[in-house]
Amino acid sequence: MSVRLFGIEIDDDSFESSVNRAFNLMSVDKVSQVVTINPEMFEEAKKNSEFKRIIDEAEMIVPDGIGVKLALKLKGKNVERIAGIDFARAILHICAENKKKVAIVGAKEEVIVKAVENLRNEIQGLNIAYYHNGYFNDNNLIYDELKNIDANLILVALGSPKQEYFIYNAKKILPPCLMIGIGGSLDVWSGMVKRAPRIYQKLGLEWLYRTVTQPERFKRIFPTLPLFLLKSITYREDR
Ligand code: UDP
Repeated sequence: MSVRLFGIEIDDDSFESSVNRAFNLMSVDKVSQVVTINPEMFEEAKKNSEFKRIIDEAEMIVPDGIGVKLALKLKGKNVERIAGIDFARAILHICAENKKKVAIVGAKEEVIVKAVENLRNEIQGLNIAYYHNGYFNDNNLIYDELKNIDANLILVALGSPKQEYFIYNAKKILPPCLMIGIGGSLDVWSGMVKRAPRIYQKLGLEWLYRTVTQPERFKRIFPTLPLFLLKSITYREDR
């Protein structure tokens, strides 16, 4: 099932069924794209029709961040918030249990090296067959390497919208697999960026913690949320 927000169909499955659905997409005979959508991505989709098309064509769109959950709530729709970082980690666990092959692309070299080391230590049996930092000029070189690896799951952490383009373009090139854009998750998994304390996560206030502890984000993110909610109320979904 799905719900509509700013003309985009968002899946309204629970966290657990979303993880299972994503896992099942690994056995489908094509590359599947998972988008964990947040308010900034809706803004991008409004300005950029190519980005909107990429989102529309994604096999799964899950509501990341409290902003999306609240906007839907204001429209009378209850969805479970699915933090992209928790979602990706849950999929890594199922991959480990089912002996699936994982590849990861993104972040600075020292960040991805440390994140991969931590993930291998923390998730027993996890097979990370390939990783590469996110600072490269030629996507094709990375696609070629990914083709050879033939992973079941590819996590892409290039920030948005770069990662959505990278995944979309890979659809025509790579063998069947599941690809998820994971934004800044590697920074957190490397231990170099701290996540908000659990109480903030529980209350859905992770964004507040992050904006206050990272003043440069404050300017960018803070006005976005109230404005996003306001616009969601006035937007007519049949447009
Ligand atoms: N990143 C990358 N290559 C790039 C730009 C960004 O690998 O060309 C990585 C960056 O190092 C970080 C992640 O993408 O690990 C998310 O970046 P950012 O915080 O800018 O994106 P957001 O989380 O705001 O979407």
